[in-house]
Amino acid sequence: MTFKSLGLSDALLKAISKKGYETPSAIQQKAIPLILERKDVLASAQTGSGKTAGFALPLLQILQNQPTLHKRPVRALILTPTRELAAQVQQEFKDYSEFTDLRSTVIFGGVGANPQINALRNGVDVLVATPGRLLDLHNQRAVSLSKVEVLVLDEADRMLDMGFARDIKKILALLPSKRQNLLFSATFSKEIKKLANEFLHQPVLVEATPENTTVEKIDQTVYRVDKNLKTDLIIKLISEGNWQQVLVFTRTKHGANRLSEKLEKAKITSAAIHGNKSQGARTRALAGFKEGKVRVLVATDIAARGLDIPLLPHVINYELPNVSEDYVHRIGRTGRAGASGEALSLVSLDEVGYLKDIEKLIGERLQAKTLPDFEPTETMADVKEAEAEKKRQKAAHHSRGRNTGRGKAPSKGKSTRNSNRR
Ligand code: AMP
Repeated sequence: MTFKSLGLSDALLKAISKKGYETPSAIQQKAIPLILERKDVLASAQTGSGKTAGFALPLLQILQNQPTLHKRPVRALILTPTRELAAQVQQEFKDYSEFTDLRSTVIFGGVGANPQINALRNGVDVLVATPGRLLDLHNQRAVSLSKVEVLVLDEADRMLDMGFARDIKKILALLPSKRQNLLFSATFSKEIKKLANEFLHQPVLVEATPENTTVEKIDQTVYRVDKNLKTDLIIKLISEGNWQQVLVFTRTKHGANRLSEKLEKAKITSAAIHGNKSQGARTRALAGFKEGKVRVLVATDIAARGLDIPLLPHVINYELPNVSEDYVHRIGRTGRAGASGEALSLVSLDEVGYLKDIEKLIGERLQAKTLPDFEPTETMADVKEAEAEKKRQKAAHHSRGRNTGRGKAPSKGKSTRNSNRR
């Protein structure tokens, strides 16, 4: 599949090749033809999937195929939840329209309105906006929305999370009723479905799971290493690579705490987030991480799921997840369509079975490497002994709990559960 076969114009193809894109991403392959057919589209796509180009390219093509109107009223309106996203989206419109005579601009709050008003006065075909500032400028009659033909709600789930539902409704009321509508969202909550029902007209559902799109773009490396050397190896990788923002996944809450403490001891700032931490503590840890005060965020799968973690250059699996799908979610935190991301997995002998399951799921063999001084020496006998020891400790822990009236005694059936997971 090529961009040309999607029916895009030469001017757009030229811009695409200047950006260095070779093949359309999954969401682009699905969404572009539908949008060109002027269908309403309900798309499930995340950041990193190439979703922006998925709507920007066909939109530009649609506008290009029509005569420019006198005074250039806004014909395509893209609403985004944040100023950062608005700026990013408009930059893409600018890049893709370089060889056309279409114009775009962006408006968002928190900065002076005058330059935005001036840009609107000169006429633009494409307007990227956050809802609040758009309504402000509309109230000031700085922008007319009466000629909008295509509306895009980008990251609609985040818009609702941020409380923009009412603003969106107000904006919908300002648009011509005959128009094409596109809704992009990473998740499909009840609220999103409700919103979609309200304003999409016989929408076509397009799904591009991150599984299909991100995995190909991410450099995946497996290091085989003994369990007891994983911490040393992770410290070495982070220090020698001078990595400044690393997300590390562990399987358990205790594991996350332990690793975070050891990293701190090695002078690598770190915070752990997991289900035992309050929402406030998690948000603080994440904020510190985003600001660069915390170099390594150690997370469990569940804790990471609801968090708005930015895409990162490095994700490390300190342990492989025992649910293969979690691997795909984890490494989806790194890499973007286009930019490179690296996912490393430290795999000890007892995890080789998990590795096989993951390889089956992603349909790819992951080449396992070893590093000097960290060559694995574990044998299956060691693994069995470690498991037996763990069981002994657990039993001791439980019986201590029973003696002091705390904790629960292990039930009979349970004791074998961990000893032979696979
Ligand atoms: P998005 O999901 O829209 O935020 O896009 C993520 C990144 O992927 C952006 O930096 C785009 O420039 C880039 N991108 C979009 N489409 C492609 C493609 N087909 N090939 C390579 N990179 C792309």
